[in-house]
Amino acid sequence: MTTVARSPNMSAHEVRQRLQRARNSRRAQLRAVEDTAPLVDKDLTTARKVAIHYALSEITAAERRLANGAYGTCQACRAGIAIERLEVLPYARYCVSCQERLT
Ligand SMILES: [Zn+2]
Repeated sequence: MTTVARSPNMSAHEVRQRLQRARNSRRAQLRAVEDTAPLVDKDLTTARKVAIHYALSEITAAERRLANGAYGTCQACRAGIAIERLEVLPYARYCVSCQERLT
């Protein structure tokens, strides 16, 4: 079984499953936003959709990192991203300190 380089406790298979679950839940959110769109402020609907599409593109980017071996490595400082963070946010691009510095 292939393990993710920086995350010995999580296999690539498990990461793929987590990313797929994250994508499914974002798609469900998108459907819910679209279903309630007629009842909600247009700008709010747009903002929600933009946020969901962003998350979906981040999930795809994480799958690409998983394929090329960069998954679990901070894209800014190249340190390993803590497993606890990846469990909460499987498509995290940055470690906690870089995320805080960048936002
Ligand atoms: Zn970092």
